Amino acid sequence: MDHEFRLLIDGALVAGASSFDVINPALDAPFAQCPKADAAMLETAIAAAKRAFPAWAATPMAERGAKVEALAAALEARVSEFATLMTSEQGKPLDQAAKEVRGSVFVLRAFAAMRLEPKVLRDEGGNRITEHRTPLGVVAAITPWNYPLILLANKVGPALMAGNTMVCKPAPTTPLTTLLFGELCQAILPAGVVNILCDQNELGPALTTHPDIAKISFTGSTATGKKVLASSVDSLKRVTLELGGNDAAIVLDDVDAKYAAGKVFEGAMRNAGQICVAVKRAYVPDTMYDEFCDEMARLAREMVVDDGANQGAQIGPVQNKLQFDKVSALIEDSKARGTVIAGGEPLDRPGYFISPTIVRDIDDEAPLVREEQFGPVLPVMSYSDVDELIERVNGTDYGLGGTVWGKDLTRANQVAARVTSGTVWVNQLMAIDPRIPFRGLKQSGMGTEMGLEGLEEYTQPHVINAVALDAA
Ligand code: NAD
Repeated sequence: MDHEFRLLIDGALVAGASSFDVINPALDAPFAQCPKADAAMLETAIAAAKRAFPAWAATPMAERGAKVEALAAALEARVSEFATLMTSEQGKPLDQAAKEVRGSVFVLRAFAAMRLEPKVLRDEGGNRITEHRTPLGVVAAITPWNYPLILLANKVGPALMAGNTMVCKPAPTTPLTTLLFGELCQAILPAGVVNILCDQNELGPALTTHPDIAKISFTGSTATGKKVLASSVDSLKRVTLELGGNDAAIVLDDVDAKYAAGKVFEGAMRNAGQICVAVKRAYVPDTMYDEFCDEMARLAREMVVDDGANQGAQIGPVQNKLQFDKVSALIEDSKARGTVIAGGEPLDRPGYFISPTIVRDIDDEAPLVREEQFGPVLPVMSYSDVDELIERVNGTDYGLGGTVWGKDLTRANQVAARVTSGTVWVNQLMAIDPRIPFRGLKQSGMGTEMGLEGLEEYTQPHVINAVALDAA
């Protein structure tokens, strides 16, 4: 690839201390070089962000909003360029990559329009108490490889609107869309407000323990999230963790089996199942179990699995070799514990392709049911009693999302209310909206992203309690 990607440090696009290959997962072959930062560059970037903080924090929120809106507009003008690059490094089909880019524009715009107003807590007898929201300082934004751009936008939007400056670090297997976004930041923002560094998993601990980082906004696996939390302790950093999930789809007995199968299938297979809130296990009434499973298997066999750059591809490769091996091992294990009714094998071609896989009659203790597979394979279980079902659904360390499908909306809402996760969607899939708070319960996370509450997490409350002298 011709484009020379560069890091963004203190307002300058710079070469790395070294570089590494970025692999196209559809080809299992490198297609570009990524600049790699070293420890000294990390120090320079954090120092630049620290220097830029006072002026950015003092910039009126409306002006910061204009800059974030300018970022959105610049991204919107280059949707197809970003989408093509994203497909090459991430693997998702081009139309889905374009959707992610447009979604990122939407996210930035939504935050650009938000305002933090002081709250009057009391105003009586000459005593006025107001709560203000002040920025924190330098935010470290660490992102994973499944949605490299929109998950970054979820952090850049609120961090900048709140008046913070940033050091961003993408995942090593999908760094390039973030670096391209860095070019927009370089053109639009004051020097040092956003810095972007790439690594091969070496810089995380130095970034998250650094005394000049005030907050860590992390999206990734639960295992890494725990390390991030541990490394925040010394300086008591603010931490937001958006981690893994094991979302259940609950199908109630008053819906059409085929309709529900179509929805659950889409929820499980979008982005090759690599979504934190993908359907990761499905529970279906035993009365419709066979019909539901047959339809799922039919849909899996019809799915066009191909290089996302090819017209008509519906599902691309798994994003990286490590994840491909993990998903392949879960499928192998499930062959002995359940019945594979579609897929079950990698495709016989270069790249990390796994054919959409459906497993039925698998026990609740199987790793495929208990763990987060994060790939194109779904276990489907049957149930006969809703109370027992809720216990099975909630019997997990995760608590991110979930879906309930039912015609009787009152009953569907009642079932949704019993699922212990941050969000439950009723009769819809992954309706994530930057204006609505999103969070994980249990080991799916800490803190809130998105919504006004998510924006407030990039600030600290500051109470001013004043009395007039003549009332004192
Ligand atoms: P990961 O935890 O392996 O990596 C995430 C990021 O952390 C990468 O940038 C990585 O380089 C960095 N990192 C690695 N070691 C680090 C350390 N010691 N300190 C600091 N940073 C470190 O996750 P992944 O495999 O890239 O992403 C997949 C996971 O992300 C899944 O579990 C998925 O459910 C989760 N996820 C959650 C959400 C959410 O909103 N809850 C959204 C998307 C993905």
